[in-house]
Amino acid sequence: MSNRAWHLASRPQGLPTPANFELKEAPLPDLQDGWLKVRNDWLSVDPYMRGRMNDVKSYTPPFQIGEPMSGGAVGTVVESRSPAFQEGDQVLHMAGWRETAAGPAENFNKLPPMGIAPHHFLGNLGLTGGTAYFGLLRVAAAKEGDVVFVSAAAGAVGSAVVQIAKARGMTVIGSAGGADKCAWVKELGADATIDYKAGPVLKQLNEVAPKGIDVYFDNVGGDHLDAAFATARQNARFAICGMIDDYNSGSNHAFRYVMRIIAARIMLKGFIYLDFLGEMGEFYREMGGLIAAGKLTSRETIRLGLEAAPQAFLDLFSGGNTGKMLVRL
Ligand code: NDP
Repeated sequence: MSNRAWHLASRPQGLPTPANFELKEAPLPDLQDGWLKVRNDWLSVDPYMRGRMNDVKSYTPPFQIGEPMSGGAVGTVVESRSPAFQEGDQVLHMAGWRETAAGPAENFNKLPPMGIAPHHFLGNLGLTGGTAYFGLLRVAAAKEGDVVFVSAAAGAVGSAVVQIAKARGMTVIGSAGGADKCAWVKELGADATIDYKAGPVLKQLNEVAPKGIDVYFDNVGGDHLDAAFATARQNARFAICGMIDDYNSGSNHAFRYVMRIIAARIMLKGFIYLDFLGEMGEFYREMGGLIAAGKLTSRETIRLGLEAAPQAFLDLFSGGNTGKMLVRL
């Protein structure tokens, strides 16, 4: 069985380029007792992978030069030497960026039987939906009546935040790049949008939230975060989820309004989706319920074929996706 896999060819300086990736055969280990072989059907590309291209210590280990890359994937079991799995089972796992995965059964999770298309387990029912759900409701403790500002609102995490917040009776302001994306964020239920490419974030945020914000869900950092500092109400809560504005350039922002943390008693908390893996039962029930009730929709930007994976990943940094960016094999 062919197993072409994307390998890290070199470490990027700044924005990665296709030259940082190499597609070549990765030999599959012999299947041992208790192992599975899985044909990947869907691959996820995610902004956090940019951090793994650097040789630095973080919450996930760096990709190694010359080694296959990894990431979220959904696939179908084609050979099982584990009594817990059968051929044809659909599984979620972390051996993405390749055609075929093989390894101990404990590395694979059977998709819960929810009657929901498998790729959603990489989106609203997976990493990005979970990040939105736990970040908004647990980390920021957002509640009915709050004014919530969310950046990258037309992306995978952001679009889920908008909808969960609306389903829970919050007022939502979403920021995105361009009129089309802002129109979609409005369709998702946002009360107001900010096109950050059309003018300064702070000026626009002051216009749409004249009384300020209670919650900021940060996917971007930089000017968005500074505008949130400037407009935070007393006891505002910030869930610091991502800072994509800095992933390729490093942090070099001057935060003009950062001292408002003190006067407004702002609570800032960073978090990682993995912190909440023990609570997936609740998550599937709640998000499954919202999907069944039509209160949570999704959009995917789908690129076809393994060859398309690096460009799909690179396009996350120029807004080439609306909703979840996926690669279909
Ligand atoms: P998205 O689907 O949101 O894709 C990234 C989007 O970011 C792009 O579509 C683009 O939208 C926007 N963007 C890119 N560069 C910039 C920039 N310089 N300034 C403003 N916006 C920019 O990705 P995800 O939903 O997967 O991830 C969103 C954020 O959440 C990321 O920061 C990611 O790292 C973080 N994250 C954190 C997790 C955690 O556990 N803490 C888990 C998962 C994600 P536009 O066209 O609007 O600019």
